[in-house]
Amino acid sequence: MTTPQRLAILGSTGSIGRSTLSVVALHPDQFRVAVLGANSSWQVIVEQARQFHVDTVVLADPEAAALARTALRECGSTSRVCSGPKALAEAVAADNVDVEMAAIVGAAGLSSTLAAVRAGKRVLLANKEALVMAGRILMDEVRHAGAELIPIDSEHNAIFQCMPAGYLPGDTARGVVRVILTASGGPFRCADAGTLANVTPDQACAHPKWKMGRKISVDSATLMNKGLEVIEATLLFGLPESQVDVIVHPQSVVHSLVEYADGSMLAQLGAPDMRTPIAQALAWPERISSGVQSLNLAEIGQLAFEPPDHARFPSLGLARAAARAGGTAPAVLNAANEVAVQAFLDRRLNFTAITTVIDEVLQRLDSSPVKALGDVLDADAAARRMAVALIEPGSGAFA
Ligand code: NAD
Ligand code: MG
Repeated sequence: MTTPQRLAILGSTGSIGRSTLSVVALHPDQFRVAVLGANSSWQVIVEQARQFHVDTVVLADPEAAALARTALRECGSTSRVCSGPKALAEAVAADNVDVEMAAIVGAAGLSSTLAAVRAGKRVLLANKEALVMAGRILMDEVRHAGAELIPIDSEHNAIFQCMPAGYLPGDTARGVVRVILTASGGPFRCADAGTLANVTPDQACAHPKWKMGRKISVDSATLMNKGLEVIEATLLFGLPESQVDVIVHPQSVVHSLVEYADGSMLAQLGAPDMRTPIAQALAWPERISSGVQSLNLAEIGQLAFEPPDHARFPSLGLARAAARAGGTAPAVLNAANEVAVQAFLDRRLNFTAITTVIDEVLQRLDSSPVKALGDVLDADAAARRMAVALIEPGSGAFA
């Protein structure tokens, strides 16, 4: 019997975190959960810690951590509870961890993802925002530390599966001329442009094919998710933005494609269920069961493809421009998007204004070169300040 892989699952209480634990639960001999991390959902993480007998629980929020500590002590658990962002980074880099599932949402995941990479771990990357922000720095650290980065995002995981044998993200993709990311089109694929300003957060989060956290659901509705994914693909697969295409595919069955110099196009298909890419990444280069139902192609009948509508969904164009500008532009794009999406979810900003805010922030903050992580963090902070100021009631910028 081989020794089990020891996992740190950060963002364990979220959609990806919970799907990861459900795959892990199917293979108790192959995986052991050493670390669980999240923001503040202490009741959920206490249950997870008890079920998986973990060594360490980390909650970013100190009050939630104190409640988790008491609850775990009362039920006789020996799990250690820590708190704060620094503790998240320390826990993933520790010796009792082989693999990190990086599933914290947003820029909050950057420091722990970077810490796992620097410690030379295998990192299963769901937290696309960390890569969009600090792309070159993160990819350089992967090479330096001999870490392995395996994409969890379904499109990038599909592309990874269609790459030549032995390929790992960060390598040059031999013979590849183009990758094509599929997009479901989100809940407003067929909506009239005039109705978009008045959609509610619940409507935006009602994704037709995927059940996800609220931030990425809004990103899918604006198509910014696909924009972030274009940038993610340029970094993972070493391709310019012009070689990363996007096609809308409402059935969400073809998860992405790779085109080779000889005209071959390879695609990965499967049910729209994140347990498949999670299981692929956990077991790589082997295969394990994921609990996902087999795809019934006859039942699906037809697969459709159409180009994205840039007029109704300008986010994709903004992300492509940021990818071309390089430097701090992707970090600025990401930060402005995070602030605007939160404001929309809090009902302080309307749906179409999300993109307007991002556009405005990108225009006002010129891209500058990234020499060190500090440059990225400064750009992130400046973009957040500017987006907050634009959204503030009374700023007059947006209703
Ligand atoms: P989610 O909102 O369901 O979960 C987010 C997790 O992050 C929670 O566990 C939360 O506690 C944790 N978190 C938030 N802020 C934190 C902080 N400051 N410190 C520590 N932990 C914090 O989100 P999700 O849908 O699971 O998405 C997670 C990541 O995976 C995102 O980057 C998303 O873009 C990416 N992703 C998700 C899906 C999907 O199907 N859900 C698909 C592809 C990529
Ligand atoms: Mg995706």
